[in-house]
Amino acid sequence: MDALELKIEKAPLLTVQETVEKGQSLAGATRLQLADALRALDVPERDLRMRSNQLWHWIYHRGVTDFDAMLNVSKPMRALLSAHFTLARPEVVSEQISVDGTRKWLIRLPPRGPHDKGAEIETVYIPESDRGTLCVSSQVGCTLNCSFCHTGTQRLVRNLTTAEIVAQLLVARDRLGDWPGAERPTDGFVPDAWRAVSNIVLMGMGEPLYNFEAVRDAMGVVVDGDGLSLSRRRITLSTSGVVPMIARAGDEIGSMLAISLHAVRDDLRNELVPLNRKYPIKDLLAACRAYPGLSNARRITFEYVMLDGVNDSHADARELVRLLKGMPAKINLIPFNPWPGSHYQCSSWEKIEEFSDIVFRAGYASPVRTPRGRDILAACGQLKSETEKLRARARLMLESGIGAEGMYATAHGE
Ligand code: SAH
Ligand code: SF4
Repeated sequence: MDALELKIEKAPLLTVQETVEKGQSLAGATRLQLADALRALDVPERDLRMRSNQLWHWIYHRGVTDFDAMLNVSKPMRALLSAHFTLARPEVVSEQISVDGTRKWLIRLPPRGPHDKGAEIETVYIPESDRGTLCVSSQVGCTLNCSFCHTGTQRLVRNLTTAEIVAQLLVARDRLGDWPGAERPTDGFVPDAWRAVSNIVLMGMGEPLYNFEAVRDAMGVVVDGDGLSLSRRRITLSTSGVVPMIARAGDEIGSMLAISLHAVRDDLRNELVPLNRKYPIKDLLAACRAYPGLSNARRITFEYVMLDGVNDSHADARELVRLLKGMPAKINLIPFNPWPGSHYQCSSWEKIEEFSDIVFRAGYASPVRTPRGRDILAACGQLKSETEKLRARARLMLESGIGAEGMYATAHGE
């Protein structure tokens, strides 16, 4: 364990007994946790499997929030469950809907101990014509302090539990009417696909590979075919480069991988992504080349934030291509999203196009990520769960000084 990891406050885990006493929510539980909860209610061992399967179906396939809706569960069992547990979701403190349909929920997590007032996280939903992507947080805040990222400036940091990660998807499905028989909202765009949330990106607050077990177990719940049933290929985990965990992520999570590269030289990357001092570019790329399951059909995405005059030259683009030579990869260029107090500017549209052209001509897809939800501070790197961010002046500054408007085209995408 290193110094950076030590700074993360561990979410205190409750024992099964405490869980029962506190009337803990089972929404977000793993199969093992469900079985434990039933065992604590003295359900006989021989019935555990059948009972867990029933609960699983109602919680994750149907999305019910009340044990009484579980029609094939006997009445006494439903009463017992209701007496000890809930299916409550964490509280949605606010919902903001961008002019482009992006939704951002500020979610307050229940306190996990006597000194915990309940942390807040942000989850963002990005609808497109044929899909809907949920941007999920893995930590409250982040310890890594990348110089261009708002989340890294948040002081309070703790790991989310498995249930808190899963609950973000449950909240989104609730709000989007994304359960069998539920109705879609009418106050903003939701794609006309059979599922409002079809994809997950672990690109919200936090470094997912610093909270490995919880993220892995949460994704296990999310991909389970009897419940939420998302394909692993529709989950993308983004890391700033926690090299020793990359192979395990491939083996145990099996999602698509995105790497926040952002610079092609160690001196600059040390500044932008301080974790680079520990795991330099060479080691990071070696881990990427060894990523389990890497192939042309399962390429690694390299994220590259476009910072004016910092990392956006032609030479940078050529060096990027050289570094990635022979690797199944695509490069996702992210226009820098400003936040109150940030020191960088977004590269001009011409610069971004030129950069994208060089990468594309070398044989790599180089889509430019369309900034989404900037008006509600929901775009990449803008998440920070403190009310200060909503102050009127900061909002005005953003609305007037963004600099990369009109960027709704995608250069060399796929
Ligand atoms: N911690 C993980 C995942 C969350 S950040 C990581 O760093 O990969 C998701 C993406 O948004 C990362 O590529 C991150 O570098 C990028 N990002 C952070 N701040 C940004 C900003 N202000 N503008 C644009 N992209 C940003
Ligand atoms: Fe953390 Fe990612 Fe932001 Fe860096 S970019 S501070 S790793 S959330």
